[in-house]
Amino acid sequence: MTSHHFSREIRIVDLVAQYHLYQEEIDTAIREVLTAAAFIQGPQVSSFEQALQEYTGAGAVISCGNGTDALQIAMMALGLEPGDEVIVPVNTYVATAEVLALLRITPVFADIDPHTFLLDDRRLHLYITPKTKAIVPVHLFGQCANMETILNIAAQHNLFVIEDTAQALGAVYTFPDGRQQLAGTMGTMGTTSFFPTKSLGCYGDGGAIFTHDALYAEKMRMIANHGQRLKYHHELVGVNSRLDTLQAAILQVKLKYLQQEIHKRNDIAAFYDRELGSIAGLQIPARSEYSTHVFHQYTLQTKHRDAIKAYLVERGIPAVLYYPLLLHRQKAYQAYNSDTFPVAEHVHAHMLSLPIHPTMQEDEVVFICSTIKAFLAAQH
Ligand SMILES: *Cc1c(COP(=O)(O)O)cnc(C)c1O
Repeated sequence: MTSHHFSREIRIVDLVAQYHLYQEEIDTAIREVLTAAAFIQGPQVSSFEQALQEYTGAGAVISCGNGTDALQIAMMALGLEPGDEVIVPVNTYVATAEVLALLRITPVFADIDPHTFLLDDRRLHLYITPKTKAIVPVHLFGQCANMETILNIAAQHNLFVIEDTAQALGAVYTFPDGRQQLAGTMGTMGTTSFFPTKSLGCYGDGGAIFTHDALYAEKMRMIANHGQRLKYHHELVGVNSRLDTLQAAILQVKLKYLQQEIHKRNDIAAFYDRELGSIAGLQIPARSEYSTHVFHQYTLQTKHRDAIKAYLVERGIPAVLYYPLLLHRQKAYQAYNSDTFPVAEHVHAHMLSLPIHPTMQEDEVVFICSTIKAFLAAQH
């Protein structure tokens, strides 16, 4: 099947088009780093941290090598020990559980909400045992988990909360009293990723940790840099996980446009909502009442998932399942597969993410919607 009327390639994300938008500024920023040659911990690293701190309202921003390291450094700083349990949603990117397994901490998988795909706070208490030390809400696909409830449960049981914000940098959470905070700044710590396809992406790997706790901030800064405060004086066992100066320089340019890009993503999501919102057999992404959405992904639910996915892919539209396996079905995580996850299993059989990115053109969205409608019309 090649006969569609669309000439450009539709992409899940378009990093080339995005680069061309900011090319002059980015090229200048890169050239400055190359000519100064301060590749490790050059001045752009701390100025980017400062800019991100202002944007998020975090108490401190500690940049690091990637979003997975950010989670690992956070867990190391909290002093979690082998055998401690940490609750993570069963549908997330592997990194959330991987760092726990690596540190011999036990990831305890928890079921998700059927509408938002996020950690189901109403059943969170079921997973708490005397060994539980922390909860990791993942702000999956771009909106915040129910932090009000999660923070309350954590306070009752004296647990740490580490927000995995890799997909939701810029999302705004509103507490019942009207107070607003950005994703990643509500828990004990928040972590994020600057992987190229994330809402704030660099041109390689990068990550950061947020915290309001000055002592943890200092400890994490040391851990990320071989456990040293003073060069060659290692007070803690650390890791080598620093944000490259080049990446910091690129991110500093791109951070200026993040808000604008989040608006564009929301415009595209609103377009999809209008076109697909009232079609039988499709459920558009639920918006929680307490969080804005940065639309890292636009994820539908439909009982025709496999057939629609194949139909779209045949017509040059990349539609993707995030993620092909739930964590408890991953081979490497069988040791932690101790429960059943009826909601996640159901949702997993129905979910499908459509292309969404800030340089997407309206005719692409129109084509995708009309292709989905054509598929559904043919079902009757
Ligand atoms: C991308 C991602 C990570 C890991 O980030 P890296 O920078 O790729 O290490 C962690 N958690 C979630 C939910 C992610 O989407």
